[in-house]
Amino acid sequence: MTFALHIDKNCTGCNNCVVACPVNALELVVDEPATTKKTYKVQGGKSLTVDEDVCEACGVCLQACPRDCIVLTQG
Ligand code: SF4
Ligand code: SF4
Repeated sequence: MTFALHIDKNCTGCNNCVVACPVNALELVVDEPATTKKTYKVQGGKSLTVDEDVCEACGVCLQACPRDCIVLTQG
């Protein structure tokens, strides 16, 4: 099954999802990252990266987000 994780623009960069992810697939960075990971610009000049090779689509980060910014799509 393939899936994709999306972070919307309401993300404040609070870091909750990064801490909650059991496999460390998420990373919050301040500078423009030099990475091949999927990157979302979020508030406060930060970016949130998603390593889709590591993410297991468990949904834990969705529940950890106080602003419902994360959407997991499957298909
Ligand atoms: S879906 Fe699970 S594995 Fe993937 S980023 Fe969120 S918490 Fe981590
Ligand atoms: S928990 Fe939500 S608001 Fe906080 S950094 Fe993650 S996606 Fe952004």
